[in-house]
Amino acid sequence: MAKDPLYPNRRPALAADASWPGSGGLVAVTQLLQWHLCEVITRAKFNAYPYLELAICGFKQPRRAKKMAIERTFSIIKPDATKRNLTGKIISKFEDAGLRVVASKRIHMTQAQAEGFYAVHKERPFYGDLCSYMVSGPVVVQVLEGEDAIAKNREVMGATNPADAAPGTIRAEFAESIEANSVHGSDAPETAAEEIKFFFTDDEIVG
Ligand code: ADP
Ligand code: MG
Repeated sequence: MAKDPLYPNRRPALAADASWPGSGGLVAVTQLLQWHLCEVITRAKFNAYPYLELAICGFKQPRRAKKMAIERTFSIIKPDATKRNLTGKIISKFEDAGLRVVASKRIHMTQAQAEGFYAVHKERPFYGDLCSYMVSGPVVVQVLEGEDAIAKNREVMGATNPADAAPGTIRAEFAESIEANSVHGSDAPETAAEEIKFFFTDDEIVG
């Protein structure tokens, strides 16, 4: 139905106004209903626009980059690495990856410490050899701190078996074997907390 360009909201003239004979009443009612329907749709659209825009703006907002948590993880530079004087080179790998050494000490693990620390592997066939290897020379126990430190440390370390470790990782570059694989790193927040407590008191950690 054509609208008056000067007064678009004015109800247009009805056919009945033009005094159509016969069905004029019915035509007029139909036109009136049509007009009302147009108005209702227009108003609904008008009222919905702000919400539509809000929704679109919200959708278009640039997503904030996921903020990584600052974590602490536990690390050991194992006897094969300390024997070959690789401590500095290994720490450089951690620091280059954005991890900070917030606690560190060079110790000679006791048999009891090695057995307690690796108790989770008690049932594995390599447990005895692993404990003997861990007390075969000095180790450097450390707490590393940084964004996503637990996963990042595991990434920098590389796979347990150096044959599977990605190029550039500590184990790919320095490890001698699947057992003498140069470094240990916690694998989850719970183990990280337990392992840090196993070797460090709170006042030995300086962030
Ligand atoms: P990761 O140190 O990568 O977390 P695991 O927790 O499975 O690996 O094993 C603990 C350590 O036990 C390894 O770092 C390695 O020194 C030793 N180890 C693991 N698998 C074997 C194996 N098949 N034979 C001998 N030693 C192993
Ligand atoms: Mg492990």
